Amino acid sequence: MQIKKDIVHYAKLMEANGLVIGTAGNISVRIDNTMYITPSALPYAEIEEEDILEVDLVSGAVLAGKRKPSTETPMHSSIYKHNSRIKAIVHTHSTYATMFACAHIPIPIVHYIAADIGNQIAVAPYARYGSEQLAINAVNTLGDNNGVLLANHGVIAVGETLKDAFRRAEAIEEVAHLAFGCHLLNSVKPLSDKDLAEAVEGFKTYMSG
Ligand SMILES: [Zn+2]
Repeated sequence: MQIKKDIVHYAKLMEANGLVIGTAGNISVRIDNTMYITPSALPYAEIEEEDILEVDLVSGAVLAGKRKPSTETPMHSSIYKHNSRIKAIVHTHSTYATMFACAHIPIPIVHYIAADIGNQIAVAPYARYGSEQLAINAVNTLGDNNGVLLANHGVIAVGETLKDAFRRAEAIEEVAHLAFGCHLLNSVKPLSDKDLAEAVEGFKTYMSG
């Protein structure tokens, strides 16, 4: 099944590109009322197509798959239920972005690579991993943006496709790294709303190439 193949591909890429360590992080894709999600506590090197679970978004029931779904399944399903535009979610603990999350400092968009995420990457209030409260906090703080930080935890990136959500997870880490350096240089100069809008307009042509 192509969706499961894609999830496995990006899950392995997420680890290879250093966005997660060990079994942290998770990926899901939604099609209608079904969510396809990575399993809990299985090393990325071992994940295969058959390990991807199918979960009913309405009832929460596991429709297919022998493993336990990711501990962050409630957060993924809440995001999908609240925004029909979102079709894919990538959750990482990438280091620089998570530093901002631990410091409760939103990431300023100091580079156009993250222009389509929002005018900043805000921090959702802390709640325990896997909890319903974390799901509520993530949904509320994400709003219409394409990325959000989870306080003292990590990163959520969303998209209309898995490719977009993954690209944004990488862009969030990259812009966090740059913003961290700007803080050290004592000069943080975020792009204006106008600059961000122009950059997003440009993405429509070059990102599709
Ligand atoms: Zn996490």
